[in-house]
Amino acid sequence: MAKKPLQEKMQKINFEIDKKAFDGPFTCHGKTKLISKELAVNGNTFQYEVWQCSKCKKDYLDTKQAKKMETIWIAEKLLNERALTMSRSLNFDGKMFFLRFPKELTKTWNQDNYAEIKVVDNHRFIVEVKN
Ligand SMILES: [Zn+2]
Repeated sequence: MAKKPLQEKMQKINFEIDKKAFDGPFTCHGKTKLISKELAVNGNTFQYEVWQCSKCKKDYLDTKQAKKMETIWIAEKLLNERALTMSRSLNFDGKMFFLRFPKELTKTWNQDNYAEIKVVDNHRFIVEVKN
């Protein structure tokens, strides 16, 4: 049987991002408690924390936890090779290498944006464009 993608599993993990407050503990049927959970994807275990209501067992994520969950989704995409992949030639100006991003991806970018590069090794990076 094929392994289910993480997002399918994630949908079964029922959590809510609290609309009023972005830092736990949250209030559900009383105060939520911080609990540790883990998730296995392709033999890799991801640990994460949620705020859980001890009565109804509903999970809540604060801003930091939601950000971590997003990172887990990205890792899952990469591990299952489901991330959109495109090849670009590298340009060399005599000193440094650079690459051009396809126009379709940069429509919402502006000159105040900057790139945050997470270096996996000399040949693999995760680039996030931020503003
Ligand atoms: Zn509850």
